[in-house]
Amino acid sequence: MSSIPANYLALFQPYMQEPPVDVLGCARAAGLEVYSVDLPNGVSGMIQRTNGNTFECYVDASEPSVRQRFTAAHELGHFVLHRDSLGQTHEDNYLLRSDGMTNWQETQANRFAADLLMPRELVAEAVEGGTTNVSELARLFNVSELAMGIRLGLKT
Ligand SMILES: [Zn+2]
Repeated sequence: MSSIPANYLALFQPYMQEPPVDVLGCARAAGLEVYSVDLPNGVSGMIQRTNGNTFECYVDASEPSVRQRFTAAHELGHFVLHRDSLGQTHEDNYLLRSDGMTNWQETQANRFAADLLMPRELVAEAVEGGTTNVSELARLFNVSELAMGIRLGLKT
């Protein structure tokens, strides 16, 4: 079971057909623009309310692209799952933790990100297709080896 709500999963489908998943396409389909910008030290990502219920997302341009993709997917998770808890500005530090959210909400956002970037069916297809090495799978999905290792159940 994906942790992504079915209505959003349907919206994201065109961007999740094959690896690597187009995380910016998914975010845009949900109504969230993602910008890669210089963020203050120690801040990996943030969501800002622009007006009413409209938000923009920023990820730290100085971090590696696999990291920016995971952060963007994590922030999209907050946008989809926790929109009512988002204040004016929501910041996640380098551990993808924040003052405004509970640990459970952060865990939910991380699961959402993993399900978005590494859909279980696509990972299974790649493994069945002969890509069994963690580094190769990580490259194929444009995620970190750590994230892919966790998805594969190799690390806890
Ligand atoms: Zn977060």
